[in-house]
Amino acid sequence: ETAEAGNFVEDIVVRDIESGTYAGRVRTRFPPEPNGFLHIGHVKSICLNFGIAQKFGGRCNLRFDDTNPESEKQVFIDSIQEDVRWLGFQWDGPEHYASDYFAQLYEWAEAFIEQGWAYVDELSAEEISEFRGSLTRPGKDSPFRDRPKEESLEIFRRMRAGDMAQGSAVLRAKIDMGHPNVIMRDPIMYRILPNTPHPRTGKEWPIYPSYDWAHGLSDAIEGVTHSVCTLEFNMHNELYDWFNEQVLRLPGSLPLCQSPDSALPRQHEFARLEMTNIVVSKRKLKRLVEGGLVDGWDDPRMPTICGMRRRGYPPAALRKLCALIGVTKVPTSVIEFSLLENVVRDVLQEQVAAKALCVLHPLRVTITNWDGEDQLLEVPGDELRKMHFGREILLDAEDFQQEPEPGFKRLAPGRQVKLRYGYVIKCDEVVRGEDGEITELLCSYDPESLGKRPPKKVAVVHWAHAELSTPVTVRMYDKLFAEPRPEEAGDFLEALNPDSCEVLSARCEPSITSMWQKYQEESDDPIFRVQFERCGFFALDKVTEENSELVFNCTVAQRSDFGK
Ligand code: ATP
Ligand code: MG
Ligand code: MG
Repeated sequence: ETAEAGNFVEDIVVRDIESGTYAGRVRTRFPPEPNGFLHIGHVKSICLNFGIAQKFGGRCNLRFDDTNPESEKQVFIDSIQEDVRWLGFQWDGPEHYASDYFAQLYEWAEAFIEQGWAYVDELSAEEISEFRGSLTRPGKDSPFRDRPKEESLEIFRRMRAGDMAQGSAVLRAKIDMGHPNVIMRDPIMYRILPNTPHPRTGKEWPIYPSYDWAHGLSDAIEGVTHSVCTLEFNMHNELYDWFNEQVLRLPGSLPLCQSPDSALPRQHEFARLEMTNIVVSKRKLKRLVEGGLVDGWDDPRMPTICGMRRRGYPPAALRKLCALIGVTKVPTSVIEFSLLENVVRDVLQEQVAAKALCVLHPLRVTITNWDGEDQLLEVPGDELRKMHFGREILLDAEDFQQEPEPGFKRLAPGRQVKLRYGYVIKCDEVVRGEDGEITELLCSYDPESLGKRPPKKVAVVHWAHAELSTPVTVRMYDKLFAEPRPEEAGDFLEALNPDSCEVLSARCEPSITSMWQKYQEESDDPIFRVQFERCGFFALDKVTEENSELVFNCTVAQRSDFGK
C-alpha cells in the first residue's frame, strides 16, 4: 500500500538521505494534542508519518502535544493510542509527551532571558495582539521590551513559582516587531495557567510553553528529522527554525539533539484532508456530541476513527484511501465522500467471506400453490447456510412496484422473479389494507425452477421465511450532512441531514447466528462483518440484552445501480 508512487515529502526524505544530512536517519512523529478523538484528517497524517518511516527503514514517534491542559484528558491519550494501533501502526519505543520536556524547556527559556533573547511582557492579551500589527500594519514595541534582563528573570521565576495571576504576564522571544512575518513579531513562549491541573504533571506547572516554543524543540530533543504538519503552520516554519537554531547557539553544555549527527529537524507542510458531507475539526465534532446530535464520538456516522471502526470500515480501506489521494503541498480539492465509500466497498469485497440473505423492508408474500411442509434449501458450496421455504415468505418491499417504472426489472403484477437459492415465483395478486397500502402479495411458485438458471430477464431477489427467519435490527446510514460543504453556509449544524439514520426491523436467514458463533471462535478481529446479498456490507454493533437480538450497522450499501 505504502510502496506506491512517492509524494513531495518522500522526495525531500530521499534528497536528505542522498545528501547525508541526517547520516541516513529518518525519524518522523505523529503529534496529536490529546483534546479529542482522532478523525479522518488525522488518518492522513498518521499514514504519511508512519508510512515514511516504514518506506525508508526509519522510525516514527508518537508524541502527545500536551501543552494546553485546559482541554486535555487521559481518555483522549488512551483513545489516540488505540486508534493508531487499530490503523495498523506501532510507534517506536514508548509514547512521548511534550510535558516530558517541560523542565528542559524552562531551563532554555531562562537561558534565553539571560542572553537577552526573551523578556517578560505585562501588556494585556488585547494589547499584545493590537501591538503585533498585521500583514499590512507593522508591529509596535511593547514598553516592557527593553526592561533589564534581571527584571525579566525575576518575574519569570515568580511566574514559575505560581506567584503571578493568570493573564498578568507572558514570556516573549525578542525577535523583531517589524518583521514581515507576523509570527516572528516577538512570539509568546510561556503563559500563566495556574488553576488547571494537567493530566500528567498535575499542578506542578503554573506556566505552560506555547506550541511554537515546545514543538520544534520537542522534535529536536527526539532526534526527529522530518517534521510534517498541515499548511496552516506554513508561517510558523521560520520560527520553528529560529528557536532551534538559537538553542544550538546557547553557550555552555546544553545538549539540544540526541541524534548523533545533531542536524536540526525541518518542518514540511502538506495540504490537510477535507471531505464532502462531513466536518473534520475536533471542535466541531465536539459540538455534535455535546449537542446530542449524534450518539457519541463513536457514532457510526462520525468521521472519527472510533466511529468509522464501529461502522465497520476496515483499517486497510482507510490506508488505501490515503495512498489514493496522495500528499501535496498545495491545497487540494475536497475529497468526495463517495470515494471513501468506494474504497471501503472494494476492500470489504476482498475481505468479507460471510454472506447472508436479509430482508430489510419485509413485505409478506403468500405462495398460494404451496401447501406442503416447509422445505430446507441449501446454498451450494456453503454448508453453514440453510434457509426454509414455505407458504409464507418475505420479500423486500423495494423489490416490488405496482406500476413498474421504466428499467425496473423486479417484481410487479403478472411478473416473475427468482428467489436466490430457491424458486421462480410470479405475482398474481396484490392485497391492500383499508387505507390502500400494500399488505401482502399473492404469488405462485414454479416447482421446476429450483436449482436452475432463471429464464432470461427474470431478476434474482433476496427473501426470507416469514416465521423461520431471524429478526435482526439494522441501522442504515446516510450522509451526516446534507450539504457537500456544511461549513460554507453559515452555521454548519444547519446543514445536518435529518434522515441520516434509519433503524429497520429486518429478517435474516437463520444461519446468521451460527455464522456469528463460528466467527467468535475463529477470528481475532472483534468486528463481525457480513455481506447481506444485494444490500451491502454490515458490521455487528451489539447483541441486545433483552432478547439476544443482533444489531447491525450498515458499513456501506451496495452500489445503488446494482440489481435494478
Ligand atoms: P483539529 O483542528 O481537528 O483539532 P488539530 O490539527 O488541532 O486538528 P492535532 O491533534 O494537533 O489536531 O493534530 C495532530 C496532527 O494531525 C497534526 O500534525 C495535524 O497537522 C494533523 N491533522 C489534523 N487535521 C488534519 C487533516 N484534516 N488533514 C491532515 N492532517 C491533519
Ligand atoms: Mg493542533
Ligand atoms: Mg485543534
